[in-house]
Formats: sequence, structure tokens, C-alpha cells
Amino acid sequence: MTCAPPSYVQLWRSGELVRRAEVAWEMLRHCQLCPHRCGVDRLAGEHGRCRSGVMPKVGSWNLHPWEEPPISGTRGSGTIFFSGCTGRCQFCQNYPISQLGVGREVTVERLAEMMLELQRKGAHNINLVTATHWVAAVLAALPHALEGGLSLPLLYNTSGFERTETLALLDNVVDIWLPDAKYADDAVALRLSGFPSYCAHNRAALREMLRQVGHELVLDDQGIACRGLIVRHMVLPDSVSDTAETLRWIAENLGRQVYVSLMAQYFPAYQCVGDPVLGRKITEAEYEDAFAALDAVGLENGWVQDLAD
Ligand code: SF4
Repeated sequence: MTCAPPSYVQLWRSGELVRRAEVAWEMLRHCQLCPHRCGVDRLAGEHGRCRSGVMPKVGSWNLHPWEEPPISGTRGSGTIFFSGCTGRCQFCQNYPISQLGVGREVTVERLAEMMLELQRKGAHNINLVTATHWVAAVLAALPHALEGGLSLPLLYNTSGFERTETLALLDNVVDIWLPDAKYADDAVALRLSGFPSYCAHNRAALREMLRQVGHELVLDDQGIACRGLIVRHMVLPDSVSDTAETLRWIAENLGRQVYVSLMAQYFPAYQCVGDPVLGRKITEAEYEDAFAALDAVGLENGWVQDLAD
């Protein structure tokens, strides 16, 4: 099966893409792009919790072979890692980019060119990693990328701490949603990631993403995803991520057919090196418990990462 052209093409032709970019850009005057709702005027140089300005800042962009099989495929996913983050995960594996500000500020035209470079290198998709605070720039870059011939599915890779109002601006812009469901306990989410009321925001966001693209993960004849939703959950040591409850909520509220990616890749990084609880990888027994929880709630679709040595 050949995938239909990404839906953002139609939005671009109708002028809607430019209109949404203008709306998002205007939101920067009293920034409420994410649930922190800082209200700062980023256009006037003020910074909110994400410490981000106006022009997008990119930490790296490259072909990434280690996402889920229908995302990385045979040639890789065209990842663009944005600098800064709305969260403060103490164990962030990308902390130099997300927390320490590593990256380079670029124009929206250059951001569009990066998308086109990844397309020329053979990427299966454009994978926007931690783009929440740069939604205005992404929307503004897309028309330039389209003028240059961008035709890849757009993938949005997020902590899942999102506002549904912002996600609505990305309806029929994003083809593949790749959100986390990190926690089932607000106190833990606040302590470890700086996300207030994570569960309510995350769950509303997951529902909105599902509303936009539905349960089906649409694949082309090579098995590469062109549209859909994949919810990620990374198992943390000592049941900190409350995997059983997270998966139960997903199955009961999003449906057992939703695609879930269970991740075992946790290792202590950043502020969790030496931590009495999070200063180690998960054990085989912990991962077996997580797998059993997945089985128990009857989630039917997705992937289970191998437990690394
Ligand atoms: S995107 Fe940044 S400035 Fe805007 S509300 Fe979120 S944390 Fe605050």
C-alpha cells in the first residue's frame, strides 16, 4: 500500500497552515503553548520555564535507526532534536540538549532546510523531538519546506505534557504522534520531571491525539508508518513509573488496540547518577513484571524493547 500524501499538504494548499502558524506565533506574546502557561512575552525576549526564545534552537539532526521498527524502518527516522524542554527530568538521557541548552539557534528557513536535508538523506519521516515549545517555529517552517518539496510524514515525539489547545493547531499537520505516558502519579511526575498535574494533562493529550488519527497505524507496503499513534512508556526502577497503573489506564481509556511501546532502556543519567533509587538500570524481574502488566490489561499492539545488558 502506498501512503497518501501527508495531510499538511492539503492544509498548505488551502492557506490553513499559514493561518495556524500565525496563531501559534501570536501565542508567543503571552506564551501558553504548554501546560505551564507561563504567560511570558517571548517575542519581547522574555523566557518562561522552557528558557526558550523565539527562533528555534536545534541540538542535532540526523538519521536515527533506533526508534520503533515502523518509524526507523531501513533508512532511519529523520530526527530533529530541539534544545530546551518544558520538563526537568532528573534522568533525562538527552540532558545536554534538553537541560543544558546545547544547540544552535536557526531561522525557520534553516529549520525547513534541515527537514529537506533529512529527506534527501533517505529519512522515512521527519521526527520532531521535544518540539512543544517550538510549535510556532515548526508551523512557520513547514511552508518553506513544502516549497522545497517536503513530502514525508511528520512525527511528533513528546513527553506527553501537552495542552490540547496546542495539539489542535497540529491537527492534520502531525501524521504520527509518539507521546510518552511517563507516570500515573502526579507527585512523582512533579518531583522527577517538574510536570505539575501530569496525569490530567497527559491523559487529555493522549485522547486528543487518538481523536486526530484514530487507532490504526497506517503502514506502507514496506511496513513504514505513515499515520497513527504510538504511546511510549519507559519502565523505571522500583516501580517509580507505576507501569501497571499507566498501562491499565491506557487500555481502559484509549482501547486495547492502541499501539504501545514498552521501553527498557532506562539507565541513570544526569541528576540520577548515584541516586539510591534511580541510580541503576531496571532488573530482569522488574521488566518481567512490566511485561506481565501489559499482558494483564490485554493491550494487543505494539513493541517490547529488549532488556539491554
Ligand atoms: S512553552 Fe515555555 S514559555 Fe511557553 S508556556 Fe511552556 S514553558 Fe512557558
